[in-house]
Amino acid sequence: MTTVVTNSLQVAKWESAFSNGYVQAGSYIVTNAVFRQSEFISADADRFRVRVTDERRADAESVEVVLWTEHPGDSAYDAASRVMTLPRVSPGVFASTNLLLVSDWDDAHFDTTVYGVAPDSTNRLFLSQLLSSVCGSYVDGWGQTNVFSAPVGVDVKSVGVDVAIMRTNGVACIDTLSALAQVTSAKERFAQANITVEMGSLVFFDAPPGVDVDNWHVVSTNNQFQLSPDARSVVHEALASVTNGTSNRCLIFVPGIRDTPAAEVAGHTTASYWYIDPLDAPYTDHCLISASQIAPFVSAHELCHALGIYAHVSDKCNLMFSTASPFMDVSASKRLYVEQIPTLRSGGHVQ
Ligand SMILES: [Zn+2]
Repeated sequence: MTTVVTNSLQVAKWESAFSNGYVQAGSYIVTNAVFRQSEFISADADRFRVRVTDERRADAESVEVVLWTEHPGDSAYDAASRVMTLPRVSPGVFASTNLLLVSDWDDAHFDTTVYGVAPDSTNRLFLSQLLSSVCGSYVDGWGQTNVFSAPVGVDVKSVGVDVAIMRTNGVACIDTLSALAQVTSAKERFAQANITVEMGSLVFFDAPPGVDVDNWHVVSTNNQFQLSPDARSVVHEALASVTNGTSNRCLIFVPGIRDTPAAEVAGHTTASYWYIDPLDAPYTDHCLISASQIAPFVSAHELCHALGIYAHVSDKCNLMFSTASPFMDVSASKRLYVEQIPTLRSGGHVQ
């Protein structure tokens, strides 16, 4: 017989997987990280195990279970079923090695044979999303098939996100699929915080007349804690175009972004902790995303600012590393720390 005794399966943050530095493995350079000598799956706070008790198999050395994940409505996050051998821990009791839930394809297919840590990782990492189920089946010593499942996510909250794409002379600055991919990657990253990213509307808006799209800048020339008139115009036009709830955050795709006239950036959030002028209040906590400097986790990073994370970190594996990177692999800038999560979850934009 098998029983689910946990209600706290969470997407892992891989906090014990990295330290600063870099490592080269074969021809493949992991730019951001050195893996610790320890077995990172077993060191992760969000690891889980599957345990089977079967008194009919008191003498068996091991049993086999089949494990998989299912995501309602989106099979892209399903992990195909795999057979796992559970060695005996005491007579009739069998337990798996430590396992981990991950939320994107690159993590799920991480092959540690290249790195020599966390043996058999491809079998022990399970692709999932919030509201997925971890499922298993076990044929017991009586010949009965036992099926079990446990939900992914603890105290799950949500944030709504609209997408507004600037058009100049009728031409959108980014294709729709690339913009939606930003929402998907934010959703995958926020799974670590038990926050679902709910897609609202996707709209196009015209560059406001009077805003020179090649030369405008976000920060007021007179006051660094104030938006420029151009920035207010851009955000206003975007927000006037979206059709969803007022609590939604808006990802505003524009051809390029300068925060100050000289500094081109990949993304910039009109964060309310920074833009404190009351006149800016209608425009705050939305994310400007540069179509010309698009990178996998820019929108996820900017949404963190919109939800109240102020500080950048020096750890290149963290989502709040200051520089956008083109990498999506396991060492990319895409992890959250445990201590970053309460800020994300406690802001007024998260329900
Ligand atoms: Zn930032």
